[in-house]
Amino acid sequence: MELLSVIVPCFNEEASVSLFYEELDRQTQFLKDRDCTLELIYVDDGSRDKTAENVRKLAESDDRIRMVSFSRNFGKEAAMFAGLEKAKGDYVVIMDCDLQDPPELLEEMFKYIDEGYDSVATRRVTRKGEPPIRSFFARCFYRLMKKISSTEFVDGARDYRLMTRQMVNAILSMPEYNRFTKGIFGWVGFKTKWLEYENVQRVAGETKWSFWKLVSYSIEGIVAFSTKPLMIASAMGVFFCLLAFVMIIFTIVRKLVFGDPVSGWPSLVCIILLVSGIQFFCTGVLGQYLAKTYMEVKRRPLYVIKEEI
Ligand code: UDP
Ligand code: MG
Repeated sequence: MELLSVIVPCFNEEASVSLFYEELDRQTQFLKDRDCTLELIYVDDGSRDKTAENVRKLAESDDRIRMVSFSRNFGKEAAMFAGLEKAKGDYVVIMDCDLQDPPELLEEMFKYIDEGYDSVATRRVTRKGEPPIRSFFARCFYRLMKKISSTEFVDGARDYRLMTRQMVNAILSMPEYNRFTKGIFGWVGFKTKWLEYENVQRVAGETKWSFWKLVSYSIEGIVAFSTKPLMIASAMGVFFCLLAFVMIIFTIVRKLVFGDPVSGWPSLVCIILLVSGIQFFCTGVLGQYLAKTYMEVKRRPLYVIKEEI
């Protein structure tokens, strides 16, 4: 008999926990026909509401339900990793608790797994119902990543993905601290089928991602999957050295040949400002990589478990 593990990261999702369970149960009846059982792993990411309590109640009535509860909020990345570590299934799928990852796609996903795909991933083709500014920056991020990273990034990609045990093991072999799972999926490779769907509104509660949390998450993605910014910093250094060289020659020739007095305080101030600004920027870029390396070197655990069912 095969086993499917469903990993559900939850942070303050007291209202969605049971809604998700009911909908998933309804949409996974097809598993019976293929002799596959289910385990449902709720990863409570340090919720401050009744999420853990509600999961505990559900678990009493259905022994397919498991829960890992963190000692505090460690973020969705840590929650997904914990779920992958705890999952015992031959197949593993990660789904949001708010039903924005439609469970009705599961049956189709299994069809492709049977056809020989190692993973079936999903992407949103619309971002309807999302603030336009958020969509705009998300698009920019994916366009940038395509240019600066050799790993594949797909616009609108979700973490909702069905994987075989082999692929899960490959992901688990990457215990990096600064995790950007969308990149890790692409990095490990394997034959992936992409399914597309229209954006769905969350069933209850509200989004846990503020605009700034997303900005810092995107920096995480850039630093984790590209070293191009470091190269750009070096390239700018070379460019400004060349420019300075040309200007020195220009100034000397103007003085010696045409006898013009050396002048230009305002332009000097502008140049100093520009160049020192760029220097600060480059130091900042370096600092980002240093900071991530520092966190990586500490080898702290990705999460701390308080309770497990
Ligand atoms: N989530 C989490 N930890 C966090 C933030 C979010 O486990 O620190 C979970 C959340 O409960 C949900 C999923 O990650 O199941 C996606 O979050 P959300 O729906 O808020 O993001 P959005 O869909 O708005 O991008
Ligand atoms: Mg959501």
